[in-house]
Amino acid sequence: MFNKENTGIIIPTNCEVCSTKLTITGARVYCPNLDCGGRKFHRLEKWIAKTGVKGFGPALMNHLYNDGFIEDIFDLYTLDLGVVLASTNLKKATQKAFNNLYKIKELKLETFVSGFDIEGIGEGVVKFAVNAGFDTLDKLNKATIEDFMEVEGFSEGRATLLHDAMENLYDEMVELTIFVSIKEIKEVVKNDEEDDVNKLEGASFCFTGKLENMTRNEAAELVLKKGGTVKSGVSAGLDFLVTNDKNSESSKNKKAESLGTEIITEAQFMMKLI
Ligand SMILES: [Zn+2]
Repeated sequence: MFNKENTGIIIPTNCEVCSTKLTITGARVYCPNLDCGGRKFHRLEKWIAKTGVKGFGPALMNHLYNDGFIEDIFDLYTLDLGVVLASTNLKKATQKAFNNLYKIKELKLETFVSGFDIEGIGEGVVKFAVNAGFDTLDKLNKATIEDFMEVEGFSEGRATLLHDAMENLYDEMVELTIFVSIKEIKEVVKNDEEDDVNKLEGASFCFTGKLENMTRNEAAELVLKKGGTVKSGVSAGLDFLVTNDKNSESSKNKKAESLGTEIITEAQFMMKLI
């Protein structure tokens, strides 16, 4: 235990649950052990809170967790409810709580991701990333720390937290979409397609290196469809060089830099399409 800046508030130095040394960043104190029982329990509580589902009070949550019915979010959807009901006197209430939970089949991406209780990454933070074009689990997973640093409100620290969390939790998240899918946010784009036909009119693009979400041919087709032009090389008059490796030493990158051509990532390119 230590006394933080003589405020009189005693802050523990080690996690009460798993004894790991706690991490302190600014005003936040948390256990960095991803397998910590305390963290796992908190994640389950967070998921329940984010789904907005009623009936999972502390008594039920403690029972489910302490008796080993649930360890991660996936367990909530795959446990044998018959066995759970047989283990409790509160059968009606328990049945009702799970009925409520299973009714929720869809969540917004930012709600879904923040439901995993990522340290320092609340729903509002994820929403910023979604608005910046990282609007699928896949895109959030493929984004680099540098990509996230371009998102409004993202410091390097925050970008690293989200990036590392996606790396750790992506498989678990994808698995969970069997039960809770992510609300499509593409509808707006579809409706506006007519108006967007010439969105890239007058703009020229050159693609280099590997793209994550499409082939270079597909990217070129999209540009043409939206009224832009595609160039195979970097020359004066080129508007954008699209590359996922902005720091590459390739001749195209160097030339673009010397000509002052704007170098953008695939994610930024995709933002121009919508
Ligand atoms: Zn811990």
